[in-house]
Amino acid sequence: MGVQTQVTDLAWALQAARHAVVLTGAGISTESGIPDFRSSTGLWQKVNPMQVASLTAFRRHPVEFFQFYSERFARLDHARPNPAHLALAQLEVAGLIKAVVTQNIDGLHQAAGCRTVIEVHGSIREGACVGCGRVYPGSVFKRTVATAADLPRCESCDALIKPGVVLFEEMLPEAAISRAFAEARRSDLLLVIGSSLEVGPINLMPEMALENGARLALINLDETHMDRHGHWVIHAKAGQTMTALVEALGLQAGPAAG
Ligand code: NAD
Repeated sequence: MGVQTQVTDLAWALQAARHAVVLTGAGISTESGIPDFRSSTGLWQKVNPMQVASLTAFRRHPVEFFQFYSERFARLDHARPNPAHLALAQLEVAGLIKAVVTQNIDGLHQAAGCRTVIEVHGSIREGACVGCGRVYPGSVFKRTVATAADLPRCESCDALIKPGVVLFEEMLPEAAISRAFAEARRSDLLLVIGSSLEVGPINLMPEMALENGARLALINLDETHMDRHGHWVIHAKAGQTMTALVEALGLQAGPAAG
């Protein structure tokens, strides 16, 4: 089936679905100028994640850790939702999708106007002191870190402030993961957009959905190991595909909220 035929067919299926759920990954945000991790232009081609994005890096080499994160946060701060994020907000308003589970930390689904967003890897909106737990807005990480004197420290106890994103070697937020799994089990259609499905445990969602008889749709530039289970497998950009989907449904892509 060609892309347009699949999009039209998926539009029909969404209209007929009882509980359609979406899982997004870094690939939905590349068209907003945020690099993904694992594709040929991804971040992990340039740096070793364990050296810059792990709990060990945060504890042992905080200057290098914050150099990496402050640059990344600055880029995220300027990013705006793209047509794929906006299309999902339209689908939600129209009642055609019930929840968006995202591995992204960029907040672009909410910026596009989506309300039911389950963030399974945290977000850049806030951070917390590792000493006393005091919560800080994400703006504390917007600084150039050249030496230890520039590190973000707690005003109450002077311990370091850790970004609210899940680092390598860290536990995942239990409540968000169980909500995500519950959504997968409840779904009769799971639409995965821009994820390599290589990161666990969230990459179990497609199998959970399939076990319950749901149909799986995959929109991703590269192939994934779940392609053979997909009812719709679209290897194209998320922005143009989701725009085509919204058009096939006769919905208007609305402006970003806020
Ligand atoms: P990934 O990097 O493993 O995979 C991204 C996938 O998206 C790739 O398979 C690629 O082919 C595809 N892709 C890239 N651009 C696309 C486009 N325009 N349209 C359709 N597909 C496109 O990402 P992942 O599966 O989300 O897992 C990686 C981890 O990365 C997650 O833990 C997430 O927390 C983190 N991450 C988040 C962001 C963000 O918040 N925007 C950015 C990078 C990484």
